[in-house]
Amino acid sequence: MSRMNLAGLLAMLLLASAGVVEAKQWRYAGMHPRTGQPADGLCHMEMVHVHTAAPLHADTLYRTRENVYVFIGDPTPFGYEGPRHAYYGHHPVVLNVLVNISVDRDVVEYCYHDGPHYHSYEPPPRHEFVEKEDVSYYAGEYPQEYKQGSPSLVRVNTVYRSWSAPRPVITVGPPPEYRGPVIQVGLNIPVPSVEIRVGGPPPPPPPPEWEGRVVREERVHVHHDHCDHHEHKKHKKHKKHKHKKYKGRD
Ligand SMILES: [Zn+2]
Ligand SMILES: [Zn+2]
Repeated sequence: MSRMNLAGLLAMLLLASAGVVEAKQWRYAGMHPRTGQPADGLCHMEMVHVHTAAPLHADTLYRTRENVYVFIGDPTPFGYEGPRHAYYGHHPVVLNVLVNISVDRDVVEYCYHDGPHYHSYEPPPRHEFVEKEDVSYYAGEYPQEYKQGSPSLVRVNTVYRSWSAPRPVITVGPPPEYRGPVIQVGLNIPVPSVEIRVGGPPPPPPPPEWEGRVVREERVHVHHDHCDHHEHKKHKKHKKHKHKKYKGRD
């Protein structure tokens, strides 16, 4: 090793040790909650960037690759006003598509949000989804990785339970192609028996969670003045029911 290289290495080591004293930095890619508190909103930087704040609820709301945190949750509680896509239940999320980087092989993670919810991203390519009432349902098989992650990652629902956020409105049960969990978490109860499938088997009875769950009200719009303007066109027709239809249900 030449003298130059040794000096360079020493300088690097010094810099590295200086970094230890500085505040720890966390790397993020794509939009994410600024602090994790709904009132603090979202950070909209798309590129990989750093913050001195650690991601709150990192184990359930984020997925990581090479120490970069990618938020995959529903941004609605954080005052998100951009285009949104409605989903029901658990589904794959392709991280490389989300943060717009090209890789040889898709980095697939799973979203464990129960019931109707929103994302800023559309259903990922190369995965099968069925759309019903403008809501996307994952229509593929759930692999082993999904099942392995499930016990800890479903806790995302506990995190969101305390936050006020509107959810997509659904009036009928999931299509038969959807094989994920059917759990009542939102506002309106999709009674499976209203849907008659000619020639098909009778609709399944509601799962036990159905009755026991607390049915939450639609909540206050945080961004009242702006939400009409930014409302995604697709969901326009749902809007008019939002504040009245489900009152008094719980
Ligand atoms: Zn950020
Ligand atoms: Zn989702």
